Amino acid sequence: MAARLAQEWFAICGGCEVTILDVGEPLLDILPNLEIVHMPVLMDHKVYGQTGEKTKMEIPEADVGIITGSIRNEEHKELAKEMRNKCKTLIAMGTCACSGGIPALGNLSTVDDIMEKVYRGSVSTESNGLPKESVPALTDRVYAIHEVVPVDVKLPGCPTTPEIFVEAVSALLAGKKFTLTGKSVCDECPFVREKKAVSELKRPLEPIHFDVGKPLESVRCVLEQGYLCLGPATKSGCGGEAGTPRCIKAYMPCRGCFGPLADTANPMVDMMGALASIGLDAKQIVDRAATFNRFAGAQGRLRPVPQKGGKPS
Ligand code: SF4
Ligand code: SF4
Ligand code: SF4
Repeated sequence: MAARLAQEWFAICGGCEVTILDVGEPLLDILPNLEIVHMPVLMDHKVYGQTGEKTKMEIPEADVGIITGSIRNEEHKELAKEMRNKCKTLIAMGTCACSGGIPALGNLSTVDDIMEKVYRGSVSTESNGLPKESVPALTDRVYAIHEVVPVDVKLPGCPTTPEIFVEAVSALLAGKKFTLTGKSVCDECPFVREKKAVSELKRPLEPIHFDVGKPLESVRCVLEQGYLCLGPATKSGCGGEAGTPRCIKAYMPCRGCFGPLADTANPMVDMMGALASIGLDAKQIVDRAATFNRFAGAQGRLRPVPQKGGKPS
């Protein structure tokens, strides 16, 4: 019998849904084993009933539930609880769902500041006030899914990879557990670390020079060349079975998209340690809180920046 699948999307860009399409042919092997009962991106199934006749949001019962995106408003919060109630196994898919992702950069500002900057104070918005009815209120900050409801499986990545998605869903359908290793991107990186000091960090968009076709194993670690690479503070897994991280394969530094090494990890502390070990001062990076937590701003890692005088910005 096919397993029932429900999927919801919260504060997202839609990239994680595209990852499911990117699975390509292996998706044809998985689909016959799945009965999709709820997936707003794919089917017209409404949570208040097809004609809006219900007073409470409802999702059908399912064996597997997938949530993409972080929690940014009260509706997301309620839907996360409903997904948890109705799905036997709940997957948080993508870094937004696992650790806040890009939407959680909003945690650097208060809700009031966001409303002021984006709506009330915007030159392109008429000042007619903000709608209060039929529009869910923003939550006080952006939450990862597991901060609101327990999650069984986490598939990080911005977006996560098609390989991990297939591996996780196939494991669940076969009644097996799926977990990623606790390794870092550095642990899987073939570049050579010489552990010599560097004089300065290069500008973020400065191009990296490399010889096309040169084996990865003969290239010097790009962090040691002065390019900011978040490999030391980022969870591995983007390289699939082969292991080599996706960006490293393209001679690019890791931006940290698989999120922190663990829920309790502090990427800022990890990166400051990594930079200090090769003689670099993290204070050179002006917006280091956001840079080191670009994909990990939930769970209290990013907070409104206090202005002079103590008020958050
Ligand atoms: S994790 Fe990245 S790709 Fe996925 S929804 Fe969030 S921003 Fe988009
Ligand atoms: S810092 Fe970046 S380039 Fe250097 S070993 Fe780690 S992942 Fe590779
Ligand atoms: S190397 Fe880093 S930024 Fe690139 S895909 Fe992997 S985790 Fe994401």
